[in-house]
Amino acid sequence: MSDILFTNARVIDPSQNMDCVCNVFCKNGKIAQIGKNTVFENARQIDASGLILAPGLVDIHTHLRDPGFTEKEDIYTGCAAAAAGGVTTLCAMPNTNPTCDTTETVQYILEKAKSAKAHVLPVAAITMGLHGETLSDMDALAAAGACAFSDDGVPVATANLMRRAMEKAAALDLPILAHTEDKSLSGKGIMNQCVLAEQLSAEGIPNSAEDVGTVREIALLMNAPVNTRLHICHVSTKGSVALIADAKKRGLRISAETCPHYFMFTEERLAAKDADYRMNPPLRSESDRRAIFQALLDGTLDAVATDHAPHTVNEKSDFYKAPNGVVGMETSFAASYTALVKSGAMTVSALLRRMSYVPAQILGIDAGTLRVGARADLILIDENALWTVDVNALHGKSKNCVFKNCTLQSKVKMTVLNGEIVYDELTKGNE
Ligand SMILES: [Zn+2]
Ligand SMILES: [Zn+2]
Repeated sequence: MSDILFTNARVIDPSQNMDCVCNVFCKNGKIAQIGKNTVFENARQIDASGLILAPGLVDIHTHLRDPGFTEKEDIYTGCAAAAAGGVTTLCAMPNTNPTCDTTETVQYILEKAKSAKAHVLPVAAITMGLHGETLSDMDALAAAGACAFSDDGVPVATANLMRRAMEKAAALDLPILAHTEDKSLSGKGIMNQCVLAEQLSAEGIPNSAEDVGTVREIALLMNAPVNTRLHICHVSTKGSVALIADAKKRGLRISAETCPHYFMFTEERLAAKDADYRMNPPLRSESDRRAIFQALLDGTLDAVATDHAPHTVNEKSDFYKAPNGVVGMETSFAASYTALVKSGAMTVSALLRRMSYVPAQILGIDAGTLRVGARADLILIDENALWTVDVNALHGKSKNCVFKNCTLQSKVKMTVLNGEIVYDELTKGNE
């Protein structure tokens, strides 16, 4: 492992309220020193003038499809996509095959991830097989290394199972990541319920499907042990935003994420019947989009995640039958920067906070910081770079990206994991 001295970077570390031009020295895989005018003779020097140096991003919601669906993605390619997007720590959802509901699968993921380009935190299933019938052995899964619990992909089938899961997770001091949806309302819907859906003869998913799901989890949280940590996934509706804001006002321990597509795009994107724009929850109306955007600014929504959900080109070829999901880790920072920072709505420091330190705090992990002694997980960003998303240049296996052919501003130029460079277009050109 070679030690690296980054010189003259604009160092932004929201965990320490730091924003200054200085040098960062990484030694033995850790942040060893941050300061000015320091020279370390035995370290490799990288001139970071004009670039932002920030903590590696923490993506609280991804699907790596491994084990079981490795034609879509695997742990190595998913982490290569993460590295290219500046994500150094990610949570992997349990809807794999087999489901991540046993200690063996948790161990398989952790073992394979040791040589991957990002830190992978397995999320374990709440119910066996995500079937909503029997609780998993949450004690054993936590002991094996699960970072959180979720049935993501589907809601936990009954309120009673979710109630019991919250009690167990509270005892283990781990968060519940809730996919909030009432299946009796979403039914077989494939896009937002709207005039366009009628025109396309596509079954609609009403906002109430998400809002009723959010209400249930908040009602359960109100009656759960006080240290229960509930995190709401992929918020897409103004109703859910209002419910979460109200719960926060009342002092409940709740956090929430959204994804770039929900504050950048609306249902109108589906007019051309391209299944790459289909995900669950779906792209919503303009008033929902505005509410999500505003909620990120005012802090009702805590974090930006991706819900990175790879599917093959073949699976996505039929608008009506394609599975839900979009990839996102390689574009999440640039897309968010373009929408939130370039527009003047948010500072780059505030955005980095919502993509690194805050998600790390939600998970209760030691990441998303450049504190001396922390793991040297960091990124270099060129704020002014303009680039057009070419799906054929993505590092993951799948191409179902809603930002295809979009021109975005800001680019991750280098990603460092445990002091090792895992992505480099600064000294090597486009990887
Ligand atoms: Zn979900
Ligand atoms: Zn998901």
